[in-house]
Amino acid sequence: MSARLVLLGPPGAGKGTQAARLAEELGVPAISTGDIFRANIKGGTELGRTAQEYSARGALVPDSVTNAMVRDRLAQDDVTNGFLLDGYPRNAAQVEELDSILADQGRALDLAVEITADPEVVVERLLKRAEIEGREDDTEDVVRHRLDVYAEQTAPISQLYSDRGLLAQVDGIGEVDDVTRRLLAAIGSLAR
Ligand code: AMP
Repeated sequence: MSARLVLLGPPGAGKGTQAARLAEELGVPAISTGDIFRANIKGGTELGRTAQEYSARGALVPDSVTNAMVRDRLAQDDVTNGFLLDGYPRNAAQVEELDSILADQGRALDLAVEITADPEVVVERLLKRAEIEGREDDTEDVVRHRLDVYAEQTAPISQLYSDRGLLAQVDGIGEVDDVTRRLLAAIGSLAR
């Protein structure tokens, strides 16, 4: 079985937590562009220096940088049977780029799963996470900016996938286990 999935949803909706669980369950790698950027920032690479300029203020890293990084990652051997993308695509141009990367490989996306959550709830979650993890981009101003970027650029892409009949929406409010169960049910027909 293969599963080529993208996980959509606002910052703080629990995408990272759920992506790890789903990836384990489905036997495909979870690929988080945010995690790749953070690893590069920590490692002091050139990619990290570029990413930091943008991520520290809650802006999107330029598509040219992000798209090239994702194209490289999706060319690796461990994604032959599928992947779960967390945090990509994040705007309409990235949706097109993902189509093109997959088309070049003779592959196609199976499903986009959106975790829905109330903006006020996610702000609260992100501020709590800031206390625990100390992420530079979890301060209140930056969180609000990230939510604005999400509303303007990322939220509209759900419609693009919905128009293609590829969107499943799952309520992200509730216990982590319950949300995982909902997501697996939404992906269910693929996972069997
Ligand atoms: P995340 O952990 O997914 O919230 O990502 C953290 C930060 O990394 C974002 O606020 C952006 O600055 C950057 N980032 C992650 N994914 C992307 C993407 N697909 N396009 C542009 N920037 C991204």
